[in-house]
This record gives sequence, C-alpha cells and structure tokens, in this order.
Amino acid sequence: VIEAGTPEHKVTTTCAYCGVGCSFDAEMKGEQVVRMTPSKEGGANHGHSCVKGRFAWGYATHADRITTPMIRKSIHDPWQKVGWDEAFNYAAAEILRIQQQYGKEAVGGITSSRCTNEEVYVTQKLVRAVFGVNNVDTCARVCHSPTGYGLKQTIGESAGTQTFDSVMKSDVIFVMGANPTDGHPVFGSIMKRRLREGAKLIVVDPREIDLVANSPHLRADYHLKLRPGTNVAMVSAISHVIVTEGLVQEAFVQERCEWDSFVAWRDFAAKAENSPEALEEALGVPAAEVRAAARLYATGGNAAIYYGLGVTEHSQGSTAVMGIANLAMATGNVGREGVGINPLRGQNNVQGSCDMGSMPHEFPGYRHVSDDVTRAQFEQAWGVPLSADPGLRIPNMLDLATEGSFKALYCVGEDIAQSDPDTQHVTHALESMECVIVQDLFLNETAKFAHVFFPGASFLEKSGTFTNAERRISPVRRVMTPKNGLREEGPQEAGLEDWEITAKFSAALGYPMQYAHASEIMDEIAALTPTFSGVSFKKLDELGSIQWPCNDEAPQGTPTMHVDGFVRGKGKFFITQYVPTTERVNQKFPLILTTGRILSQYNVGAQTRRTQNVAWHHEDLIEIHPHDAEDRGLVDGDWVGISSRAGQTVLRAKITDRVQPGVVYTTFHHPESGANVITTDNSDWATNCPEYKVTAVQVSKVNQL
Ligand code: SF4
Repeated sequence: VIEAGTPEHKVTTTCAYCGVGCSFDAEMKGEQVVRMTPSKEGGANHGHSCVKGRFAWGYATHADRITTPMIRKSIHDPWQKVGWDEAFNYAAAEILRIQQQYGKEAVGGITSSRCTNEEVYVTQKLVRAVFGVNNVDTCARVCHSPTGYGLKQTIGESAGTQTFDSVMKSDVIFVMGANPTDGHPVFGSIMKRRLREGAKLIVVDPREIDLVANSPHLRADYHLKLRPGTNVAMVSAISHVIVTEGLVQEAFVQERCEWDSFVAWRDFAAKAENSPEALEEALGVPAAEVRAAARLYATGGNAAIYYGLGVTEHSQGSTAVMGIANLAMATGNVGREGVGINPLRGQNNVQGSCDMGSMPHEFPGYRHVSDDVTRAQFEQAWGVPLSADPGLRIPNMLDLATEGSFKALYCVGEDIAQSDPDTQHVTHALESMECVIVQDLFLNETAKFAHVFFPGASFLEKSGTFTNAERRISPVRRVMTPKNGLREEGPQEAGLEDWEITAKFSAALGYPMQYAHASEIMDEIAALTPTFSGVSFKKLDELGSIQWPCNDEAPQGTPTMHVDGFVRGKGKFFITQYVPTTERVNQKFPLILTTGRILSQYNVGAQTRRTQNVAWHHEDLIEIHPHDAEDRGLVDGDWVGISSRAGQTVLRAKITDRVQPGVVYTTFHHPESGANVITTDNSDWATNCPEYKVTAVQVSKVNQL
C-alpha cells in the first residue's frame, strides 16, 4: 500500500530485493513512507529502479507482520505471545538443554542473504562463540555457493571481478544461465543500453529469455539453447574451439597464470571428445553455432561473462564456474574494464552473507576455520576458544536431524521449508528437531515447525549494510521505528533491530555482545577482516558506497579486481570434465523441469506477495512447448499434474515456444505451487548447492481446481 501525503524528510537507503543493490530515497511523512525514489547518487543504479524496489515495500507494514515474540512447547500447540525476555530465556534454556543432552554439535544456525552484513556477522559469531560449533550456513548454499568455491579455486577471491558500469566498455556480452531482465532488472537495462550501442550478445540458456529477442533491434547474435544440465559440456566445447583454433592469449596466460595448470587444461580441452561436434547431441546445439560463438567471445574485443543460477544450481555447478574462469583467463578477459567474470547474485546480500563468514568452513573474509593464525585472531577478539573443525552445511543439518542427532536450529530470515529442494525431506527434518527458532517478519512455512518465534524488523526499520553483486557495500538506514515491539494487549515493548535480537539472545545464553549501534559491528568486522579494514559507516556516509577490498592499499575501494595479478597470485586452470547428471529422463519422467524467476516477484514471494506487485503475477505457471502440449492434449490455461521422483504438484499450463521441446519451466514465488515439492535432492559435488535446474518430470492434464 502506498501511503498518501506530502513528504517531510527523506532518508537514503538500499533496496532489500536483488543483488543489484539500488539506492533509494525513502521519502517520509513522520513514520510513514510516502514513496521510494531511486537515488541518482546510487553507485549501482544512478537513479534507476524496477517495480520491486520502487513499489514493493508495503510488506513492511502489512497486517500479516508478527510483532510479538511467541513460544510453544510443541508444534501442535497454539502459539503463546510473550515478552522479549521470556522468549530469549526460553530459547536459551532450550539450546543449553539440548547441548547438554545431545552434545554441542546438535545445534546450528542459518542466516539469510536478506540479512544485513552486521546481522550475519553477529549470527555466525553467536554460533561459533556461544554455541561453540561451526554449524552455521547461509541460504547462499542453495544459490551461489559454487561461485564462492569455483572463483576461490581459480582466481583466488569468491567474488565478481567488475562493476556493473564496466559492461559499457564491453564489446561482447556473454550471458550464461542468467536472466538479467527479470532477475536483475536495473543491471539488465544497463546491459541493454550497451547492446543498443552495438555490443555483441551470446546467450547460453535452455529457454528463450527476454534478451534473446528483446526487439527487432536487440537480438542475441547467438542463442545457444542447450539442454538443461549440459553447461560443463558447453564450456568444454567453447574451450576446445579456443584451444584448437589458436585463440588463446598466450602472453596473458604466461604472465598471469600457472603455466602447468594451463598446459593440462589445454591438452584436455583439445581432445576430440570435447569438440562441439562430439558434444552436439548432448548439448542439442548445432556445432557450427558453438564454434561461431566461441570465436566471437575469444576475438571480439573486450568480452565479459555474466552468469547466474542457471550455472550454479547443478550437480556440476562448481565445475561450470571453474570452466567459465578458464575461458576468461585463456582469452585474457580479466583485470580491466569491459571484461571479467561476473556472477549475478540473486538476493540483495548473497555476496555479503558469504563475506561475513556464514559458511561452516570460513571466518569472515573467506579464511578457513582450520587456519591457526586467523582462528587465534578471532579467539582473542571474542574471548573464547573456537573450533578448528568445519561445521555442518544446511543439507547435513537436515540429514542429521532426520537421523536424530541434530536437534536445534536458529533460522534467521530464511524460509527453508519453501525455498530448499525436496520439501518433504526438509519438513521431516524440521519436525524431528526439538527446538526450531525462527526470526522473521511473517509466520512463514518454516515457522509452522518452530517452537520460538522472534519477530524480525524490516529493512525500513534497521541500520546496517548490504553488499551487492559487484562487491559494493551500501548503507541500509533506519527510516522508521521497528514494529516488532508492538503488542495487541499488555505492555508495549521497544522494537528491536535484528542484530539486537541476536545480541540479546546471546546475552540470555551468557555471552553479552556489547554493541550500541550496527556501526560498531562494522568496526569489529573491519578490525578482523583485511578486505574490509578501510570500511566504516562514516566512510560510507562520505562516499555513498564502497566496493571491497577497501583497506590501506585501496582506501576508496576496488571497482575492478585482479588488475595486476590474481588475488591467489597466479590464476589456476582446472580440468572440467563433463559428467552428466544422474537425474535422467525416462519413459515415466520424459521431460526436464527447470525453474526461474519473473520480474515482479521475488523468490518465495514472502514480501512481494504482500504488496501490490501480486497483481502482476498471482500464480506460478508451467511453461510447456506446443509439441509437448499437443502430445498431452493440453491447451493454454489447463490444470496439469506434474510428478517427479521426489513428489507431485499441480499448476496451470502456459503453452509457449520459449521453452524447447522436452523442457518445461516454472517459477516458485507462491507456496501453493509447490515447485520445490518436485525438485530432487541432487546437489553440486563440491558445495551441495541443490540441482534445482534439472528435474525429470511427467506432465499430464488433470480436471482439477
Ligand atoms: Fe531492487 Fe534489484 Fe529492482 Fe534495483 S533492480 S530496485 S535492487 S529489485
């Protein structure tokens, strides 16, 4: 709901939706937002915005908001509304009881990429310093964990190399498994501007995304419409052309990369089995098109790769990321404007949640928990001994919960019961736990299995920072009082920002965290994290935003990384052998389902469904090619049953040739669609990122609804 009125003052803050990180002026009348106006000073958006950031903020004051802490002994009991202290004490007593009864490792925490950096930092600190374990993970596990792994291995830093504006210097734009127009709309517009100026475009995607045929004047030069699950084969085929046609930039490779690793990769790529012709059947793309696109990428001038979840959410997600880095290094497309390796992070703070140590094996700044020097530094700062053993990832926590040894979870801002794959397994795991603590705005799907509910604060009610896909740290400023102290009856209590909730929960566990403001958390982050040592709220106020690394060597931040050398020293090539997913079609499940997002909605829709944006997209549909529809006697709008090896659901059909025959596509913005009921528990070999993008299904008409 947009409030009427004349603004009296404005506060500059950052959009809480996607990884573009647009800056907005919240124009306020007292405690009411009158409108959100994109800020011209915004380093990522320069005054532009999309329908989400501009209009979809009304959820913050939606009637569904839970504003009172709640507890219950069993998930079958009704919720009991309590004061903050009672909720903190109850949750703390449960954690202590469970650790005493089942051991320290029986508990853990999950943070969200919707949290601020400061919230993620204090949550991982709570888990490590107070729970005494490294069982902390983030929802980046289920989206971009392969980016963190693949880029760390090859170029030494788990982050994109460029600014968004860098694309204006690109001659060739290579988009793989990403849909910037819907997923990252403001950056998608910048990209289109460069394309209209004449840059060439290669799209690698099983589906005809908007960029492929945006208008008669803006069409992809090559759309490599590969079969879902064959990214690594595609990267191999492109590598083969670059290697065998003499397109490698050998001077760059000799100077900047580990030569032995290059030679091994070159010999692997040159094998006949990696040629576009040999892989044509697996890819479903004519070899000549792959060859032409590879030549364009390697010889067309500044070439930049942009990729998204269509690359990472596969059983070989990490392999594909390393393959992309191989391509950029082999062609010298790293270390200057207009080129690079650019993961388009999904949520607003995917980058930040990983930077802040919300991974079971890494402290803030991507330093391994087994590193004695780093661990000693954190032990001294936090005043407690810390574990050197990597903790549990989200899927490990869930597996152990179903086996009976993982018993308590502190889940901040993440709805694993809707967003994680194989919903039945997730809900079984949650049901098996003795204490689930959910901190959120709404009673989401996960909260159905919770014993404690800490009501969270919306992005309009808190201070902190988000870090976008280009490593840009931007301020989140409180524009209104947190609503989470409001009670329908009884004494009103002060609302708390989410980092304050975690700090008070920590105090109830016997470990007070002494921060007066989120800025003091950032000061601690800066003191302990070399890439953030120059970051402070004061500097953010002065500069507007800062791209890390920001330290003595780069006091103003770093727009382009790896300019004179890679962070790891020399870039390292990796052999990327294509291994087909075990998720195969057969007679029973003859189609491949792949999933994605649309412009007006956001992920599981917890926010956007509670705004006027729901009018643009009120249900998830399944896209099916006309041939497959005809085979099944379907017409547009029919209800269809979709079954997979994991489960089944029902959606309405949309018949379109944007998908290829044999492939169906849906979004997962509405809980009733149950898209993740049918996705399987296959995951990336290195990071356990789920293989959301490949599920063998059958689709058939039903007479329902
Ligand atoms: Fe928000 Fe992303 Fe839209 Fe910008 S592009 S307004 S960050 S959702």
